[in-house]
Amino acid sequence: MMVVQNFVVDLNKALVFQVGHLGEAYEEWVHQPIVSKEGPRFFENEILEFLTRTVWWAIPVIWLPVVCWFIYKSIRMGLSCPHLALLVVLGIFVWTLLEYSLHRFLFHIKTKTYWGNTLHYLLHGCHHKHPMDGLRLVFPPAATAILLMPFWNLVKLMATTSTAPALFGGGLLGYVMYDCTHYYLHHGQPRTEVPRNLKKYHLNHHFRIQDKGFGITSSLWDKVFGTLPPKMDAKSPHLSCNHL
Ligand SMILES: [Zn+2]
Ligand SMILES: [Zn+2]
Repeated sequence: MMVVQNFVVDLNKALVFQVGHLGEAYEEWVHQPIVSKEGPRFFENEILEFLTRTVWWAIPVIWLPVVCWFIYKSIRMGLSCPHLALLVVLGIFVWTLLEYSLHRFLFHIKTKTYWGNTLHYLLHGCHHKHPMDGLRLVFPPAATAILLMPFWNLVKLMATTSTAPALFGGGLLGYVMYDCTHYYLHHGQPRTEVPRNLKKYHLNHHFRIQDKGFGITSSLWDKVFGTLPPKMDAKSPHLSCNHL
């Protein structure tokens, strides 16, 4: 597929197979947000289009029973309550590091080829282009289910038979907390200090200060790994954080 020089995206047509044509201009385009609650069309195909839309509450409804099932598996194998709690907390903690790493190094990978741009748009670019599209904010459960398999195998390799399920359950719980928190930071109106600060911190990430704020549920790993200075060529956005 060719990258077209000076390609202009038609926002009234399905976006996914257009964005690749932007080539090197994609990076700039995807980080100029359109702040409307109405999301764009992704695919012409109705079934594919349907699969791209996920209501936020599908995440706890689908994944919390799975979390319980994994934790129950460890209980059945005789793990004590304090040991269990410790493993779940450890799983959540490991998740925050994974969340940070995926967001910083995979979700913000620089792309310019047709398929690179297309995949990046589907993975995370769409959220930066339309940050208030409430149906394209949390991760589609079908995609999560596929990604869980290699992670479960990895945890099984690294932990014992009775501890692996509790650890994995904790990690999955961390993911559920992350996706719901992320949704809330965009669509909720926090009144207390902690969520207000989290929201401010995350909105910084959206407004072209791309090199900070990769942690969503916690700024811990941003502090540990340090943040890069804002890009010199970054255009200051004409929107204020209040728009999100
Ligand atoms: Zn991001
Ligand atoms: Zn966001």
